[in-house]
Amino acid sequence: MYSQYSKYFLNIVDYHQWNRKIMHAYWLVFGGTLFAFALISLFAREPGVGAWHSLLHGCLIPSAIIAAMLGVTEWNLRSGSDLRHYFMLSSGTVFSIVIVNTLPDIPGIEMVFLPPLFGALTFYDMRKLYYSFAMNLASFLALYFLNPVIHDRIGTAELLVTLFALINSLIIVLSLMSRVVALQQALLNSTEHKQELLVQNTLMERLSKTDALTDLYNHKTFHEYLAQLLEQTNTTSFAVNLALVDIDNFKKINDTFGHWAGDQVLKRIAATMRSHLADGDFAFRYGGEEFAVLFTDKPLDQTRAVLERIRKEVEGIVHEELHGGNVTVSIGLQGYRQEMGRERFFKMADACLYEAKRNGKNRIIDDILLPEAAGS
Ligand code: GH3
Ligand code: MG
Ligand code: MG
Repeated sequence: MYSQYSKYFLNIVDYHQWNRKIMHAYWLVFGGTLFAFALISLFAREPGVGAWHSLLHGCLIPSAIIAAMLGVTEWNLRSGSDLRHYFMLSSGTVFSIVIVNTLPDIPGIEMVFLPPLFGALTFYDMRKLYYSFAMNLASFLALYFLNPVIHDRIGTAELLVTLFALINSLIIVLSLMSRVVALQQALLNSTEHKQELLVQNTLMERLSKTDALTDLYNHKTFHEYLAQLLEQTNTTSFAVNLALVDIDNFKKINDTFGHWAGDQVLKRIAATMRSHLADGDFAFRYGGEEFAVLFTDKPLDQTRAVLERIRKEVEGIVHEELHGGNVTVSIGLQGYRQEMGRERFFKMADACLYEAKRNGKNRIIDDILLPEAAGS
């Protein structure tokens, strides 16, 4: 369970940055320790021990060991080794070993094995926590049994206190970690919930804008989009052309082959239309068996050419549902002109469609001049 969340954590936390911060902290503590070692070795040295000897053994050698360990850890970190985190954890323990070994007769000095354990919390990983605990415990016990000064100074009570302090710290760190896990789970849940809502909203929005049968935009969206588009033409000058496409004799198709067959034809024609459109063109199911197509930023003759390709392809489709029969479409096309206004623009496209029907269907009529009276 922890590793699952730690993976998630890895994604949201910049681990590289954290490693750097920990190393900076290490170097900072190293500086402080060096300073403390120097002061203690010079001013609190054993009677009869020379200043140089004391400085060498009480400050320079131990500091060099710590610096070497930190150096190796830095190198591991920079080389991106898989073991870099374990080197960082071990650095903390080596740090503590050197401090305890250098100042073995200071009462309670063995408590310096606790900070590395708390430091391990930053990795947010159970395995690393147990590793740090084992390292610190083993190091303390090794020093206790191998270093006679420490062994003689620490009595049974202090030995037990140190062991309990280590175990208690582990328990505290584990409970801190489970607290973070709970927080993270809540965060994860709310993020997932938000994402679900976002997906649902997008889906709902899409559903409210499209027609279920043909998957084209619906009537409502057509009017919304047309209004928006024409508003834009007021500020920028780009061409807007509107085509109204109506299937010829569709009622007869329904009457002869049934509505199910009619639906299949509708879907196929919608898909055919869409396959000819460019990014800036939008097809809508205006209603029943009528479609509207808005072409943007394309001159009228280019638009007409696209529509002509659609008309021809539709004419050529053999519909199984119609027992191998075919259907045709009539198209009215109108280019928008600034002075027209939205309503007249639409009415003129509709008038073109009417003309196409009147002239024998299966054709495109474009840009006829509508008498002013018809538009008002
Ligand atoms: P015209 O060539 O003049 O356009 O004749 P038409 O028969 O296509 O025109 P009309 O408007 O009289 O008929 C349209 C028919 O389209 C009426 C209706 O039954 C049919 N229709 C409308 N919506 C659907 C639909 O979603 N599915 C099916 N199968 N038919 C539909
Ligand atoms: Mg029709
Ligand atoms: Mg119709």
